[in-house]
Amino acid sequence: MRRLTVATIMLAWAVSNSGCSNAPAANNEQNLKDNPLLAESKLPYSIPALDKIKDADYRPALLRGIEIHNEEIRKIAENNETPTFDNTLVAMESSGTLMRRVLNTFNMVTGANTNEFLSKLKEEVDPMMAVHNDEIFLNQKLFKRVETIYNDREQLQLDPESKRLVEYYYQKFLMAGARLSDPDKTILKQMNEQEALLTAKYSNILLAATKQGALLISDSAQLAGIAETDLAAFAHNASEAGSKGKWLISLQNTTQQPMLQSLSNRSTREALFNASWTRAEKSDSNDTRNIITQIVALRIKKAKLLGFDNFAAWKLQDQMAQKPEAVMDFLSKLQPYAMKKANIEAADIQALIDKQNGGFKLQPYDWDYYAEKVRKAKYDLDESEIKPYFDMNKVLEDGVFYAANLLYGITFKPRHDIPVYQEDVKVYEVFDNDGQPMALYFCDPYKRDNKEGGAWMNNLVDQSHLLNKKPVIYNVCNFTKPAKGQPALISFDDVTTIFHEFGHSLHGLFANQKYPSLSGANTARDFVEFPSQFNEHWSLDPAVLSHYAVHYKTGKPIPASLVEKIRKAATFNKGYSLSELVSASVLDMQWHMLKDTTLVKDVDAFEKNALLSVGMQMTPVPPRYRSTYFKHIWSGYEAGYYAYQWTKMLEEDAYSWFQENGGISRANGQRFRDMILSKGNTEDYMTMFKNFRGHAPDITPMLKDLGMIEK
Ligand SMILES: [Zn+2]
Repeated sequence: MRRLTVATIMLAWAVSNSGCSNAPAANNEQNLKDNPLLAESKLPYSIPALDKIKDADYRPALLRGIEIHNEEIRKIAENNETPTFDNTLVAMESSGTLMRRVLNTFNMVTGANTNEFLSKLKEEVDPMMAVHNDEIFLNQKLFKRVETIYNDREQLQLDPESKRLVEYYYQKFLMAGARLSDPDKTILKQMNEQEALLTAKYSNILLAATKQGALLISDSAQLAGIAETDLAAFAHNASEAGSKGKWLISLQNTTQQPMLQSLSNRSTREALFNASWTRAEKSDSNDTRNIITQIVALRIKKAKLLGFDNFAAWKLQDQMAQKPEAVMDFLSKLQPYAMKKANIEAADIQALIDKQNGGFKLQPYDWDYYAEKVRKAKYDLDESEIKPYFDMNKVLEDGVFYAANLLYGITFKPRHDIPVYQEDVKVYEVFDNDGQPMALYFCDPYKRDNKEGGAWMNNLVDQSHLLNKKPVIYNVCNFTKPAKGQPALISFDDVTTIFHEFGHSLHGLFANQKYPSLSGANTARDFVEFPSQFNEHWSLDPAVLSHYAVHYKTGKPIPASLVEKIRKAATFNKGYSLSELVSASVLDMQWHMLKDTTLVKDVDAFEKNALLSVGMQMTPVPPRYRSTYFKHIWSGYEAGYYAYQWTKMLEEDAYSWFQENGGISRANGQRFRDMILSKGNTEDYMTMFKNFRGHAPDITPMLKDLGMIEK
């Protein structure tokens, strides 16, 4: 149920600081001729003419967009009039429209339908936007204006959304270091640049370590249990790597490796696990320990410069949790339940080992192998039995859309006249419960070689009353494309993915904001996965399920016994999976709550103590990522890995409100829409949640769902 999907919620101006120094080159007039991105299109909902844009159009249009935006920002900052809400913040929200249009289109296409040219361009664009972002948020004159408005905000008689905008910008400027002295700003820029270099270097070393860490096997007997198709792939890997006649198992980014589930040879399991566990700690050129300590030390210095005790305290300011202590409190509440369930699961597995006269004590490399046997015995879900009931198109139109209709009254109509970037992309127009057109929704369902992995949602056009824009939302997934004329039959996991991504889309579709920065899904990381995970619940709601889960040949509804199996399977092995996630989150937080650089000499000792300090040290359950290969927290997700668990707490608690109040209905849906989905970032997240739920978020419903306490 819980998915680490790629939620690429990127507003043009929400690019994080990384401080590189390639400034945009002067623009060439010639490139701007006939460039369809330059003017706003006349197409419905102002969508860009995706059928007319050429790869070569993006760069010149983006450079022009940045140029215009710089000029707009300069005028706002240099304005001689007294700073007012309108001449500063409204002006900022109205600026950069060309730049945003180009970036939104560029992000959509490079994520889902890229090529070598566009990938290269993306490498250039990301640092360019970071520099642009720094120029705005370290602009002293601009900050002074925002600060004046901020200080006067109580007297300005602003509506709540406008007041929130003032606070939003003020906080963004502060977080970026706008209040620092000029020499300190220079130091900060150098630190940002250094951090970007270190994280890029870390990523490269880790990539090499992971490649180097692949396990080479020369005796086929050691591979007993592995499926033929996997064996063929490993033989191919080995031959590519110059070891013809052998087998090479490459490493996945997590601690546990998929093949551990199938390998019946215990010593091969141990070898594969150790290859994963030690991949980046071999005291060679691919060892990441040294670079990690450098990143940590730098982040501590940066936090101190910005006036904070530790990095997490600085980073969490604009999140729902707000403070590292709130995150640690949350994790420490989950810890005993996760461990208790994991211990029960471990005992189940040990019993199975003993029954087979294994004669050994359960180790982490045994877990998946035996858990799979327990799963087969207790919760077997045969994919081939399930898939005929889940035809992708029916899941979308008769399941996902149907649930949205029951809850929110919205309807969908296919639009075949809207240009798309690839023929498989489907477009729907969305109508509100009063029949008024409200949005466009794009769905790009199938896996392609030129598409990033995972599934995500984003905006092609940002909703804003100020800019007179209705939302255009898209979902991208990676389902296997069926043969021509065949239905796309998908697994229940995939069904969950569509409901999840569409939950993000609802957050975007119901956006009802004046200002684009506060609109729709532009919310904190520890809030944004709330609507998406919440929407997953409707996939198994009897009213919804009976409407979409029918056999593609016979038309018969899915049998109740099969649904029961799906429900039961959802609680399987949750003790293990929650424990490994909590451990990883704890590691993330402990590293980023460090106050003193002298404490970071020994990575392994630190890791051990960090887990011990919260009682998370359990031999057969290692953290999902070890510090040395925990890429999330060293390049982009720092002090943020807890967010999926946090938002699960929110959505389960919100769903329990529905259960207490009659379940799926228009009235309940409207209340959720009014109080959560349509609010964007216009209110304090905790207040928003409490108003809906009637109390602060409670972990009990989450623990019930995970089978950790009785329902
Ligand atoms: Zn998501």
